[in-house]
Amino acid sequence: MVEKRINYSLKNKRIWIVGHNGMVGSAILRKLKRLNCQIQICQRKDVDLRSQPDVLNWMKKKKPEVIFLAAAKVGGIFANMNYPQDFLYDNIMISFNIINSAKLVDVEKLIYLGSSCIYPRKAKQPFCESSLLTGELESTNQWYSLAKISGIKLCQAFRIQHNCNFISIMPTNLFGPMDNFDEKNGHVPAALLNRFHKAKIKEVPSVEVWGSGNPLREFMYVDDLADACVFLAKNYDSIEPINVGSGLEISIKNFAFLIKQIVGYKGKVIFDKSKPDGPKRKLLDSTKIKKLGWSPKYNLKKGLKLYYKWYLDNITLLRK
Ligand code: GDP
Repeated sequence: MVEKRINYSLKNKRIWIVGHNGMVGSAILRKLKRLNCQIQICQRKDVDLRSQPDVLNWMKKKKPEVIFLAAAKVGGIFANMNYPQDFLYDNIMISFNIINSAKLVDVEKLIYLGSSCIYPRKAKQPFCESSLLTGELESTNQWYSLAKISGIKLCQAFRIQHNCNFISIMPTNLFGPMDNFDEKNGHVPAALLNRFHKAKIKEVPSVEVWGSGNPLREFMYVDDLADACVFLAKNYDSIEPINVGSGLEISIKNFAFLIKQIVGYKGKVIFDKSKPDGPKRKLLDSTKIKKLGWSPKYNLKKGLKLYYKWYLDNITLLRK
């Protein structure tokens, strides 16, 4: 099926980027700054997104017309397994408060950010949007997945019952500026970049990579996702979620060697098989967005070089 394009203008709109300090939100902020619109942001100290009154009061005051919902408690495989309550509760509360308040203050368009981990563990790869809820979830990130699936379903429910123009976007594994570089709780790109860099500086003879190195992952530079989010805000209006992938699939082993090369680390790489692999593969089928006329611009090497440059420029601020 060829997706129908709509033509929604963001020009002069009041646009709230929720989660503007995070990797995805800050990329959307960079992108929107180049467009003609009124950007709204809020600080954590002023609005607790888990609090319904905080969110509703803020929205009644600011009256956003468009919302990019990029705020979430996120983390890698270790964080997902160790903080199930945070991942389930915080993420459901954030999504539900904002989506519900968006209806109450008549938001014209809401763009909800999900994740590729919403798809069932054994669904056919690459994952099509239609495989949502057709099987059991991956156990290592089930709490986060469940919260994100609930957000998608709430957008769909508001669309059915109240005709709200709320859309859901499923991005693949991301990396970019403002990533969480914590070696334990971050995702694989940030954890490895940080580990290889520190090992180079301290002349450590070997670096540890978790798991067998065999799992396959698709990676995307976050500026490509921000570009896709703005594209879809303008051109997509459907109850079905839409995948945003890069098609750049690589094994964790080859990915680790690519980061090693970009960082310029000369030591050995050791795979720690006592650490979990997570899903064997997580590739998105991005046919739908391609048919609408969007494609990513960054290849893996180009994205990783920019990523490392940002890390080096900001390393003193990160203090990790
Ligand atoms: P996932 O894509 O949801 O599984 O999230 P991650 O980014 O946490 O992990 C991706 C893959 O990278 C998994 O197979 C991990 O075992 C592997 N991996 C290798 N080294 C690391 C590391 O230092 N941190 C993380 N988070 N994952 C790692």
